[in-house]
Amino acid sequence: MWCDSTLRQLVKEKKEEIDERTYKLIERLVKNGIIEVSPIIEVGKVSYPIIEEVLEIKSFDKVNEFINILIKSGMFEHKLIDKAIRCPRCGSFSILVKYYCPYCGSIDIDRNSIISHTMCGEISSISNFRKGEKLICPRCGRELVNPEIDYKIIGEVFECNNCKRRFDMPAIMHKCATDGMTFSYREAKYAPIYLLTLSEEVFKSVVKGKYVISIISNILRENDFQVFENTALRGTSGINHQFDIVASPKNQKNSKYLCINVTSNISENDLIMMFSRIFDVKSAYGVIVGFGDILKHIQELAKSYSISIIAVKGIEDLKDKVNKYIGELKTKL
Ligand SMILES: [Zn+2]
Ligand SMILES: [Zn+2]
Ligand SMILES: [Zn+2]
Repeated sequence: MWCDSTLRQLVKEKKEEIDERTYKLIERLVKNGIIEVSPIIEVGKVSYPIIEEVLEIKSFDKVNEFINILIKSGMFEHKLIDKAIRCPRCGSFSILVKYYCPYCGSIDIDRNSIISHTMCGEISSISNFRKGEKLICPRCGRELVNPEIDYKIIGEVFECNNCKRRFDMPAIMHKCATDGMTFSYREAKYAPIYLLTLSEEVFKSVVKGKYVISIISNILRENDFQVFENTALRGTSGINHQFDIVASPKNQKNSKYLCINVTSNISENDLIMMFSRIFDVKSAYGVIVGFGDILKHIQELAKSYSISIIAVKGIEDLKDKVNKYIGELKTKL
């Protein structure tokens, strides 16, 4: 596996056992140029598609177990984004919420307004005023027609149609739509849902790893360049400057060098470093390859420094953009 050696090196430094499947996942993430493992929360379902795909597992418990391994490994940052109620018996996320009478346990309860009859001052649940379609005061027998004039709503109450008792709050229970189990918050499983982000340290070391560099080198070789990886060029100051790739066209003497560095996301500092190195090396083109979107001021700064930046979204994008860049460069050499 291409990122194996880099990752294993990191693991060595951390002195921890890393799950084999973690390598697989990181490889997939970097190949696609993404750093996040995000859950999809749907009605009755929570899933992490990329983990399910890479590990070829479907069960949430297995995925969750793996997520805990990822968090423990320290290779991913985790952020709690939600907590989901699960059935304590079957683990289902398809949970219905039910209101019950706290006295007799019946589900046949209603929420009614408490109204006050303006004329006689009677205060009672609206259910006691209902006579067919009409509202008739149970104390004085008058009909209530206009809200706000004949009567005022002064509150709300739950009423049980079975035991006829009133209460402010129903008993709230959960019912599993999968196996029908009824349970309270006391028995409910409460699953944390995380957003995982590949740690900066891991992403950088993997991206800086041989894989990305070798892809760029191969494209250069296909285009008749002589290529050196992880090599230094001596500047006019006498200082040696390190580059990920140094290339020059074959069969073309006195041509400028092509100096390439690879980074996770291009910073101002990367540009300044590249600029000062190229300035010292003299006859060279400076190129920085980075992942993700590049901020506008970075693009402008690169232009003023005459440094080319290649911002890529993934490995396929990397190949396309490097090919395009070299195609354009060859017309200038
Ligand atoms: Zn269940
Ligand atoms: Zn009741
Ligand atoms: Zn009345």
